[in-house]
Amino acid sequence: MMQQYLALKAEAEDCLLFYRMGDFFELFFDDAKVASAVLDIALTARGEHDGDRIPMCGVPAHAMEGYLARLIKAGHRVAIADQVETPEQAKKRGGSKALVARAVIRVVTAGTLTEEALLDSRSANWCAAIGEAGGQVAIACADVSTGRFEVVESDADRVGAEVARLNPAETIVSEASSFAELSTLQRPRIDFDSGAGEARLKSLFGVATLDGFGQFSRAALAAAGGLAAYLEHNARGSLPFLRPPRITRTDACMAIDAATRESLELTISSSGTRKGSLLDSVDRTVTGAGARLLGSDIAAPLMDKAAIEARLDLVRRFADDSGLRDMVRGQLRALPDIGRALGRIAAGRGSPRDLGQLRDGLDGAWRLAERLSTLADKPALLAGLVPQLQGHGALIDLLSRALVPEPPIDADKGGYIAEGYDAALDDLRDAGAGGRRVIASLEADYRARTGIASLKIRHNGVLGYHIEVPARNADPLMKQDSGFTHRQTLAGVVRFNAPDLHEAALKVTQAGAHALAAEAAHLEELTTQALDRREPIAATADALARIDVAAALAERAIEGGWTRPSLVDHACFEVEGGRHPVVEDAVARSGARFVANDCTLSEASRLWLVTGPNMGGKSTFLRQNALIAVLAQAGSYVPAARATLGLVDRLFSRVGASDNLARGRSTFMVEMVETATILAQATPRSFVILDEVGRGTSTYDGLAIAWAVVEAIHEDNRCRCLFATHYHELTRLAERCDALTLHHVRAREWKGDLVLLHEVAEGPADRSYGIAVARLAGLPPITIKRAKAVLDKLEAGRAKTGGLAAGLDDLPLFAATMEAEEAAADPLRTELEALDVDALTPREALESLYRLKALANQA
Ligand code: ATP
Repeated sequence: MMQQYLALKAEAEDCLLFYRMGDFFELFFDDAKVASAVLDIALTARGEHDGDRIPMCGVPAHAMEGYLARLIKAGHRVAIADQVETPEQAKKRGGSKALVARAVIRVVTAGTLTEEALLDSRSANWCAAIGEAGGQVAIACADVSTGRFEVVESDADRVGAEVARLNPAETIVSEASSFAELSTLQRPRIDFDSGAGEARLKSLFGVATLDGFGQFSRAALAAAGGLAAYLEHNARGSLPFLRPPRITRTDACMAIDAATRESLELTISSSGTRKGSLLDSVDRTVTGAGARLLGSDIAAPLMDKAAIEARLDLVRRFADDSGLRDMVRGQLRALPDIGRALGRIAAGRGSPRDLGQLRDGLDGAWRLAERLSTLADKPALLAGLVPQLQGHGALIDLLSRALVPEPPIDADKGGYIAEGYDAALDDLRDAGAGGRRVIASLEADYRARTGIASLKIRHNGVLGYHIEVPARNADPLMKQDSGFTHRQTLAGVVRFNAPDLHEAALKVTQAGAHALAAEAAHLEELTTQALDRREPIAATADALARIDVAAALAERAIEGGWTRPSLVDHACFEVEGGRHPVVEDAVARSGARFVANDCTLSEASRLWLVTGPNMGGKSTFLRQNALIAVLAQAGSYVPAARATLGLVDRLFSRVGASDNLARGRSTFMVEMVETATILAQATPRSFVILDEVGRGTSTYDGLAIAWAVVEAIHEDNRCRCLFATHYHELTRLAERCDALTLHHVRAREWKGDLVLLHEVAEGPADRSYGIAVARLAGLPPITIKRAKAVLDKLEAGRAKTGGLAAGLDDLPLFAATMEAEEAAADPLRTELEALDVDALTPREALESLYRLKALANQA
């Protein structure tokens, strides 16, 4: 057995091996140690291997899913080695000592799950592959739980953003790939060969040419082929459930890189969960498929104006008609997830209940289509969706006749085929029922015959039907000529058989076995019938999801007083009364009111420099405008009173490093790398928000960098940009950059207290209020007092240095400057007085800063 185990383990590569033994899956050696720790189950030891006891642990086969889920969540991959013959077959093959043959029947990985219990019903579960050929790159991704299959042609510099959009459970690459850092697993090079990929796809879809699906580049063939090879490998040869691929280019969507997604918390919040994200605050869908589609819509805002308008038209139809919206949402809410049921059936793991779900889901879709088709003035998108909900009449009819109303998950016990569907099956069931009636009547006979009132006919798995009497009454039945045969004596009771009972029982069990076999044959046939229509069924599931998303967005829009954005061709951004949906919810929960703000970027004023106190609402303002762009291009209404937007091709959001330090992730270096990306990639159609960039280093360096970045964005990138900063010195840029305008979030000091108004107004902030915020936060009065004294000194110094002086966030350098002042260190003073900041190029400014620093240090 150990030999067999070790051979399978070698084949299972880096997976944990579940080895079937009777009713359990056992794990051995290191696998057992890992699994027992993750699953918190007992680690035992048994037998001996190379002189050591073998560590082992096991999980019951019937409860395997729960354990699998935990192992997969913990990042493991699991190979399932099951018995592939019965013990009887093994004996026939190799004699009484023959070992039952086992084989790895499946590899379970995070990206290839279909089990309901292992999946989140509201998120897609992508497995992605990156392919490269002839200088091109493509990403293929599949959700085998629903069969969705997409291939995206990409530029090399957008691969990271694309993988971030998909957020796959697994990403595979060839072992020769240049994208290894994006992957979770490397696979053999040969799997990613474009020629082999083409052949593999043709055979997978049973076509002679792939032209019907669209134009595949060699990179696309490599990616899709590599992915299909991996899925087949995991399914151990049985074909994965993939629908024909949809081919797109990355530039069909707004480019949003990983850092931007993270900083805007589009689909996952900073806590790593869905809660607190934009998606969570927008999502009012009533089906799992709708939630999955909304997630991918928000992750991939469109660049095609017509497609966005089509989505918006449908949202408006639902927003304008609450009766229609309620009806549709009510109907959808009751529907099972047919996409995932189909996925399980196609993967060969379907149950009678899955077929029942198809029946109910398709029937519900048909009823919804009936209601929708009578609708006057259907938007074009809806008119196209309605026919996709229909056309399953024959299958619905078949499944309705064939299945009981609530079919069980477990097919083993039968009972899922409806009465009246198959006369022969009904006869078998009648025979069984007749037999059971005969047996019941035999009990009365036997009681009369023996005079034992407590005699009973019972059934168990070992003896089958038998007669049971209390031990004190057993003697007469033990006699040779009693007509009863002794079977078993237990404490208190004795069990017997009798010829007529035996005969009746045989009929019951035979009829039962035949009935089970008949049901199984029907199940197979029904499954085949359903799979024959898998593409139209999947299309129905898609159409239902699209309708759910539109109705849900309408619901959200009405709830929040959102408005339909209008999309225009020039690069403007005019939002009146904009709000941040997530912060607004949070503010409302604390009983306060969110202050709506306008943002009007145009050719003449495309770069807004936003200053104002800490906690004043700068970050919120920046983000809400980026989110409005995302929502609009995803086809949603937006949280604003009015919005007119020119399409955004690339969206960037960067937060100064110090804001992220608490999470121990960002460093100043990362901030600068990300800023470099923006300067390299932002186009005049892009939208950029920069929040306190330059803050992660010393004041002078940071200010100089921020200064130079603003200039570059203004002169070279010419994109729409909101730039929040605490460096008041930057406001002087307004004098040299004509498309840059100054704005601030308002605050007042009232009777010594700071009042934050969260209102964005024109012009620079008059002061920074940092100390007032520090007092609000509860810094001790003595420290506040000291800070004020220091600030006064600093401001005196600032007057002398032409504005280029430290902010409060760089105390060491600031202290040095003060000491320098106090010691009246002449070289420093001379240098400072000679400084004409506005005349300096960024490079000169930097050089000058370093000289100043050196002088300050000497002093
Ligand atoms: P810092 O400079 O310290 O990073 P900030 O100016 O970026 O601060 P935000 O983080 O945007 O400030 O906002 C701070 C808090 O103020 C938010 O968490 C929210 O509670 C509140 N707030 C922000 N904007 C508004 C608004 N428009 N209406 C009401 N409350 C708001």
